[in-house]
Amino acid sequence: MNGEKGLVMNMNQNGTVYLVGAGPGDPELLTIKGERLLKECEVVIYDRLATDQLLDLVPKTCEKIYVGKDVGNHAIKQPEINEIIVQKALEGKMVVRLKGGDPFVFGRGGEEILALQEASIPYEVVPGITSAIAAATYAGIPITHRGVSSGFHVITGHTKDQFDQMVDNFETIAKLDGTLVFLMGMSNLSKIVDNLIKNGKDSTTPVAIISNATTNNQIAIKGTLSTIEELVEKNDILAPAVIVIGDVVNLDMKSTIIKSLTGKKVGITGTKGFTKKLSNQLKAEGAMVENLSFLTVKEYDNNISLRDARENLDQYSWIVFTSTNGVDIFFHNLKENQIDFRKLSKIKFGVVGEGTKSALLNYGFQADFVPEIYSTHELAKGLTKLIKEAEKVLIPRAEKGSEDLTRILSEQSIPFDDVKIYDIEVDKTKRDEVITKLDSLDYITFASASGVDGFFENINSFDCFDTNTTKIVCIGDITAKRLGEYGYKDCIIAKEYSVSGMVDCIIDSI
Ligand code: SAH
Repeated sequence: MNGEKGLVMNMNQNGTVYLVGAGPGDPELLTIKGERLLKECEVVIYDRLATDQLLDLVPKTCEKIYVGKDVGNHAIKQPEINEIIVQKALEGKMVVRLKGGDPFVFGRGGEEILALQEASIPYEVVPGITSAIAAATYAGIPITHRGVSSGFHVITGHTKDQFDQMVDNFETIAKLDGTLVFLMGMSNLSKIVDNLIKNGKDSTTPVAIISNATTNNQIAIKGTLSTIEELVEKNDILAPAVIVIGDVVNLDMKSTIIKSLTGKKVGITGTKGFTKKLSNQLKAEGAMVENLSFLTVKEYDNNISLRDARENLDQYSWIVFTSTNGVDIFFHNLKENQIDFRKLSKIKFGVVGEGTKSALLNYGFQADFVPEIYSTHELAKGLTKLIKEAEKVLIPRAEKGSEDLTRILSEQSIPFDDVKIYDIEVDKTKRDEVITKLDSLDYITFASASGVDGFFENINSFDCFDTNTTKIVCIGDITAKRLGEYGYKDCIIAKEYSVSGMVDCIIDSI
């Protein structure tokens, strides 16, 4: 009996490791199982920058460890990565090791599993969509096709020193039926082509190269074994890229669905909740979305005024929200502090617009007032007509919330508590990454004056993008005014102060 107990205790001390395939780049190509595990994990160990949006899925408290190639200017060696994974599991953590594509397709996932086996750490491997297939699919090339190719082979193009050991294999590879797919082959493209031709493959065999497949920067080129190298040079095709060789390359099955924003590239700014909604709606209209945001939300979870407010909710007749972040942080805070939501049953709610209204509805509360024009000014003006004498207002909002609201309430002698529950911070470390995304955008969106400040404090305005080709879109007049202060006069202004309003105004501007 004791022995059994001891065994159970021992097993519980170790954590678990999930080796999760992240898919080839498009964050929507993650599996549902992978998504669930990311949402639950305590540590995520990752090595691909393309997984930015996937990292947003992990809990706030999750430790994020980057083990990619350029960490601290030296490549972390595989044994070191294995060691980190094992170490974190030995600390008793639930670890997700996130790997590009499928973990077992040339990802050295096997070596990580061997290390876990050696340390007797429980693990599971979650397959992912491999770039070996997805790259061709996104380029409109079916990897097999009845009558054209009845199979495919995925082959490593290897690193420089190891390639020579592979040369012998080309006698076999060149004679294989079906589609040939080379991964990690760009630096050896010339050797691959030469060896295939030398061993009998026709020089007119069709070849496609797809770089950055399934991302906004995907480029696909098509040629033949004899022309492909020149095309790569001419089009400046860089790794990561997949090389697809065979007659299927001549087929063209690219998506033919045309939506309002198909082919348009939109850079978006704002806080996480907002950019997520905006990104989803833009993608639903067919746009390619780049997140240019520097903003992070820093919650104040236990300042005195918030504690006072939540413990004395019955003194308020109204709660007013001016942002969806405000709604979410407020309700989470009540929940975490075990405040019964029935304490809110007699309170009326005022919200600034459609987004805040639906955020509130997520917690089961209908808004009692939404101004027709979505602005804090209109919200304040409308409220002054509705708030009765001796009714007190609670305003849980951002540190740098607009003065309009409190000024108008004060002018009418309406009592209120302006409780700062979060601040918007600018994360400067993202600067270089954002700059690389600015090229070739059709639109950049701004959803608040503080968002404009956050952006232009980091980006040296006119140098970074061309206003002749990149249109600026903003959510309302205040944001437009702030953009004007930075020198941008001709922005497109959304008619409605909401995510849909912004999307509609982009569509209308085409
Ligand atoms: N496990 C990964 C492959 C890792 S090896 C998978 O299943 O996809 C790394 C190679 O994968 C790169 O050199 C490149 O050939 C290919 N690759 C990965 N992601 C890619 C992408 N988005 N576009 C093109 N090739 C990609």
